[in-house]
Amino acid sequence: MSFTTDSIAEQLRSVRERIRQAALRAGRNPEEVTLIAVSKTKPAEMIQEAYGCGQRVFGENRVQELTEKLTALPQDISWQLIGHLQTNKVRQIIGKAALIHSVDSIRLAEELQRESEKKGVVTELLLEVNIAGEESKFGLRPEDLESAAVRIAQMPSLKLRGLMTVAPFTAIPEENRKYFRQIRQLAVDIKDKNIDNVTMDILSMGMTGDFEVAVEEGATMVRVGTGIFGGRDYPARG
Ligand SMILES: *Cc1c(COP(=O)(O)O)cnc(C)c1O
Repeated sequence: MSFTTDSIAEQLRSVRERIRQAALRAGRNPEEVTLIAVSKTKPAEMIQEAYGCGQRVFGENRVQELTEKLTALPQDISWQLIGHLQTNKVRQIIGKAALIHSVDSIRLAEELQRESEKKGVVTELLLEVNIAGEESKFGLRPEDLESAAVRIAQMPSLKLRGLMTVAPFTAIPEENRKYFRQIRQLAVDIKDKNIDNVTMDILSMGMTGDFEVAVEEGATMVRVGTGIFGGRDYPARG
C-alpha cells in the first residue's frame, strides 16, 4: 500500500472532525481530547507530513524506534510511548517520552522511579488496564489498580496521570462502549480516594476502530494509527 501526502492530510482532517463530532454528541468540549497519531512502523517522512498539518503528538510502541525518530524529527513533537515497556529498556526512554501509557506492573514502576531519580526528572505515566481480561493483552487487572496507584503515589520521581486501555479488537465499536465506561469509572473511583500525587485526569482509550465511542465515553487521548497513516506491514504490538 502507498499513501500520498494528500491522503495523510485528508485522513488527519477527517479523524479530527470525527473526534470533534463525537465530543459534541457527548456534550464535551472537543479541546479536551488529544489526538495521538500512532506512527509506529511508519517512516519519518510520513510523520513530517502529519507535522506539516499541525500534528504535534505522536505515539510509538518501541523504545528504539521512538528515540530514533525523536532525534530525526522536530524537537517540539510530544512523543508518547504506548507499547509494552521492558524493564531493561527503561533507562533509554527516561526524559524522552512525554508520557508513558503502558505501565503494567509495580516492578516496572520501580524501575522507572529508579532511573528517573538518577536523571533528576519526573516521569509522567498511565497505568495500563486489561479491561476485558484478555490472555493476549498486557495490563493490570482492574482490582489491582488502586493498590498500584497507592504504591506509585509514594514514588517521588513518578507522576500517575491516569489510565490507558487497549480494548478488544472488534468490527463493532459499540461492543467496546462498556469497557470504556468501566475505565472511566475506575479512574473516577481512584480519583475519589484523593491520593496525593495522583491526578487521574487522563484517559487514553480508543483506536482507529473505536475512537468515537471512546470519546463519547470520556477519552482525553485517542491513539489512531491506521486511520491516519494507513495499514502497517508488520504487527502492531511488540
Ligand atoms: C498500534 C497501536 C494503536 C493504534 O492502532 P490503530 O488500530 O492502527 O489505530 C493504539 N494503541 C496501541 C497501544 C497500539 O499499539
